[in-house]
Formats: sequence, structure tokens, C-alpha cells
Amino acid sequence: MPIPANVYATWRTARPGATALREDAPPPERLLQAVWQHQRVLREALTLADGRSVRVLHPGFLNREPGPDFRDALVQFGNEAPQRGDVEVDLAASGWRAHKHDVNPHFRAVVLHVVWEGTSASGLPTLALKSRLDAPLGELAEWFGGDGATRSGELAGKCCGPLHALPRAELDAILQQAALIRLQLKAAHIAARARQVGWDCALWEGLFTALGYKHNVWPMRRLAELAGTTTEPLCLEAWQARLTGWSGLLPAELPRSQGADAEYLRRLWDTWWRERERFDEVILPRAAWRMSGLRPANQPLRRLALAAHWLASGDLLARLERWFTRDVTTATLARSLLELLQPDADAFWSWHWTLKSPRLKKAQPLLGDARLTDLAVNVILPWLWARTAAGRNETLRTRAETRYLTWPAGEDNATLRLARERLFAGAPPRGLFLHAAAQQGLLQVVRDFCEHSNALCEHCPFPELVRAASH
Ligand code: SF4
Repeated sequence: MPIPANVYATWRTARPGATALREDAPPPERLLQAVWQHQRVLREALTLADGRSVRVLHPGFLNREPGPDFRDALVQFGNEAPQRGDVEVDLAASGWRAHKHDVNPHFRAVVLHVVWEGTSASGLPTLALKSRLDAPLGELAEWFGGDGATRSGELAGKCCGPLHALPRAELDAILQQAALIRLQLKAAHIAARARQVGWDCALWEGLFTALGYKHNVWPMRRLAELAGTTTEPLCLEAWQARLTGWSGLLPAELPRSQGADAEYLRRLWDTWWRERERFDEVILPRAAWRMSGLRPANQPLRRLALAAHWLASGDLLARLERWFTRDVTTATLARSLLELLQPDADAFWSWHWTLKSPRLKKAQPLLGDARLTDLAVNVILPWLWARTAAGRNETLRTRAETRYLTWPAGEDNATLRLARERLFAGAPPRGLFLHAAAQQGLLQVVRDFCEHSNALCEHCPFPELVRAASH
């Protein structure tokens, strides 16, 4: 007997941590941390208790060691230069002294105190989030999966046996249902952003963020915000110069060498230098970028060169909409989107990983299959789904879901590998993960269940739920 269509959503609601939050009560501190980490706030309207505006260039890295909640954030107060430092998150401003942070040397580098409500009690710049969320608290809790609990460490796998016993059709159905929940959560995030900046800018922010995978999402997002405020049409090189200039990654010195490659850098430099003064306040510090440990294809300037192609074309969004409304077979789904997003050969960037790297022997595409899938399942299809849902167009919403469910599998990663170990003892049924949706469904199970349990799977209801589904 097939499992009910909404069984995953029902389980999800029943899991531990799926708390019903009252809008007038403070959220759990972990949820507030998650709000900060994922910047589910009105980013253009953040104001300190002392009245200065604050722009978050990077929220920092979640700290699992003693000390402040986030390390190495990058924030800009008013028109001051960006500041690098730590961020502490407390429900109440009074928590600073109550928790003795004021006398704890671990907290010396804190530059911003983020609180749920209240004015400054620390002498530090203080930011209250209560009236600055980008969606109602209950919706955010849903998006984070319960109370925003963070990942546990090593996990066992009590659901492994019940999943193994589940008939294949039901296993596929559960992963599909979980994947659709994930699609809807991503769409809700995009819709929340679209309410602030419009659908077009929300899409650009998503595209840039996906190009920042995975260490440079925040500076990329900031550049998308800047690009979204640009109204004049620019040619390709003008966009490449401007994005490179805004990024703060343009080399300080011109190359001495001659030749076409050096000439390109000179032209970038000249173009940017003519407008640099106008953008002086928005140039990102180099410290906003993480450059070490990146694959060559993920180098930020090469990603920006690709984004410049899209921006200069002037009709990317219209082409995406045309792609969505025309019929595409499953076999040509990914190729048809790749043809749309892959720019013509770039005289410089098809042949270089960075501005200074030697010319490659063979031209490399600016967009590869792995990033294409990431863009499709994390940004483009959720954006299209959100728009069709907002317009109450059931036919197109179903089309977005169909394309999402039939998209070929993406690149493997450490989270998926660990999840396969825990849920399938490293040996999932053959062909289970042929589609990106199955991978997305697996990630959603991890988020909804594994992340709310511990290494021993204590109190995790998933095994019982799977057993019940097989009866
Ligand atoms: S925590 Fe739950 S879902 Fe995760 S491996 Fe353990 S039993 Fe399975």
C-alpha cells in the first residue's frame, strides 16, 4: 500500500524540537543564533541601539569552543571602515554582564552584541533583532527545523535497519517528500527576501551566493546587493571591472608584462580607476574573502567574471522564464539550462583561473556541471516555485516540482557521505541517489532528525516512523 502523500510533513511536525513558538515570547537562543548565522533579518534596516546603521559583510563563523558565538565577523557601523571581530548573541542585553562576558578575556574581540531585545548593557555596539526578522518567528523556526539546533557530532544509525526493510517505492516516496519540503523552505526564504528587494534582486542574490560556494557566500551576496542597485546598462568588461573593483581583489599594481592577458588587466584597472572614487565606501576589504583551500574553478574573480556575463546580457531573467515555460524533456533538462547559463568563451577568463595565473593549455568553461546543479536546485527552481506559488499558478508550480524531482544527481559531499553512512550503513539501495532530489531529501532528513538527536540517535523518532510506514 503506498504511503500517504503528506507522511513526511506529518513526521516533521511531530519531531522533537518542532516547537510552536509564540510570536510575543523570546525564541530559544539557538534559534536566535541560527537567525544571525543565516542572516534571516532585514539586512537593509539594521540599526544599533545608539542609532547608527549596521551592515553585515560577514556574520562570522559559528564557534563551538569557549568564547563568543561567532568568530571573525565583518561589520560596518554607519560610514565607518568595516570592523573585523567576534559577535556574541544573547537573548537579553543584560546577558553580557550576567554571563560575565565583561570580565572574560575570550570576549575581548567582540565588536557587536546581538540581542533579542533591549538597549546596550555592555558598552558595545548592540543590535536588537526582535523587530528586524525577515519572516515571522514561527516560519523561521520551521525553516531551521524546530528550534535552530546545531549539528551534533558523530552519529550512529538506528534508522538504518527500518530503512533497509522498507520497500523501495516507499523509500523513494519518503525521500521525495523530504526533498519537496526542502524546496518549499528554500522558496520561502527567497520569497521573504523578495518582499524586501523584489523578485529580480532576490534571484541575483541567490545566484551570486551559490557562486560563492562555499567559503565566500557573504561577500558574493554583498556584491549582488550592490549590483541590484545598478541601473545603468554596462558592457561585459565594465561589469567585470566594477565587480572586481567592488570586491577589493584587484591587484594593487599593474603587470609589467606585455601581451593580451596583461592588456586585459590594464583595461580592467583603467575602467575601475575612473569610477573608483564614486564607490569608495562600498569596496570590500580583502579580509572579507577566504582565498585559501579553494578549488581553481571556485576562485571568486572567475565566478564574478561569469556573473558579469549574465549581468551584461541584460536578459538573463527573461531567458530563465522562457526556459521554464517551454517543454524540456528529462534527458535534456540539465543541458538546456547549461546552454542558457554558459556564456560564450571569455577571452581572458576561459583561459585563466585567476588574474595572475598562467594561461591554461585548454580553455575551461566558466560554469561546470556541479555548480549548475547547485544553482538549479538551490536557487533557480526554488525561485521559480516561489513565484508560481505567489501567483497561485498550480500548473507552473507542478512544473517547477517536476523539474526539481527529475534533476540529475549533483556532486557528492561530506554531509551526504556521512548521512549515507548513518542511514544506509554506507550502502544505499542501487540507484537511490540518481537524482538531486533524493540527495536533497537525505539532507532534509539530517536537518530534521539527525541534527536534533545525538550520536546515539537518542529520542529520534525517525526509526519508529519508518517502521510504521512499512506496515
Ligand atoms: S538521528 Fe535519527 S535519522 Fe539520524 S541516523 Fe539516527 S535514527 Fe537515523
